Amino acid sequence: MRGGSAAEEGTMYIGIDIGGTGVKMVLVDAKGALHGFRSFRTGSSAQAIENGIVDSAGALLASRRGGRHSLRGVGIGAPGQIDTGRGIIISSPNIPAWVRYPIATRVSALLGAPAAIENDATVAVMGEQWLGHGRSYRNWIMLTLGTGIGGGAVIDNAIYLGRSGSATEFGHTSIDYRGRPCPCGGRGCLERYAAAPAVVRLARRGLRTHPESSLHGLMQAKPLSAALLYQAARGGDRFAMHVFETTGEFLGIGIAAFVNIFNPEAVVIGGGLSRAHRFFMPSLRTALARHALPAFRAGVRFHMARDVVRGAALGAAKLAVDRFS
Ligand SMILES: [Zn+2]
Repeated sequence: MRGGSAAEEGTMYIGIDIGGTGVKMVLVDAKGALHGFRSFRTGSSAQAIENGIVDSAGALLASRRGGRHSLRGVGIGAPGQIDTGRGIIISSPNIPAWVRYPIATRVSALLGAPAAIENDATVAVMGEQWLGHGRSYRNWIMLTLGTGIGGGAVIDNAIYLGRSGSATEFGHTSIDYRGRPCPCGGRGCLERYAAAPAVVRLARRGLRTHPESSLHGLMQAKPLSAALLYQAARGGDRFAMHVFETTGEFLGIGIAAFVNIFNPEAVVIGGGLSRAHRFFMPSLRTALARHALPAFRAGVRFHMARDVVRGAALGAAKLAVDRFS
């Protein structure tokens, strides 16, 4: 990293985190200082997403006070199968319109700066490594709990990518060989038990036998979601707390396997569901104690991701800093 001159201080990077429901964008300098944040709903067409990216980038760059600045590069994190070398989304489960879609070239042309793309899980790890708890460790893993369960492993300070650039599919690790079928073709995948839709499903089934739960009232105003469950648990709802407790047990079984494989110094948990950590961490630790090798689990530290909302977008910006500065 260079820096110091007025021109260098005005050099900015945009990070874009394209999720299934929302797109988040940050404007940062080469040191990771946040100069702006925007988000918009993903929409279903490629055109809608491109328009949103152009509008948000314009707003981000316009809102920056104080004269000289230039956009040096753009980093993108997206779900799905990605050819990072050519900057192409081969297919994306949440955005069916993107088939062999040359997103890096498109975004580069739209924003007038070079663009690079990585897997969404990888940029989340990059963000935590750059500005979060990852700064304190050389060997650690991260799980992102959201619509699915993604993650990454950092080995000797390097993110492990595997052959095709998307290793450590923690969510598709089986915790029950006779378990629930998964769209991936497997059975008993962790995310079928502990990602947000599974938590909601668990709650929906249990609610029938828990007429006393405050969720029945809360659901008059809002549909049942992991966020609503969290709201109920914070309000002291025993049933909602129990749902998170059960989820923690599933997570603990899965994480025990990852601890046995990676022998990490720390496990960082991100994604929207991580907000409910105080309700799932106790049972997670109990399950970990039962399933992980004692010598490995003893020293493992747990952290919640530093910035659940913007972490992946910040990691995408780091991709641009690394690639284009
Ligand atoms: Zn699966």
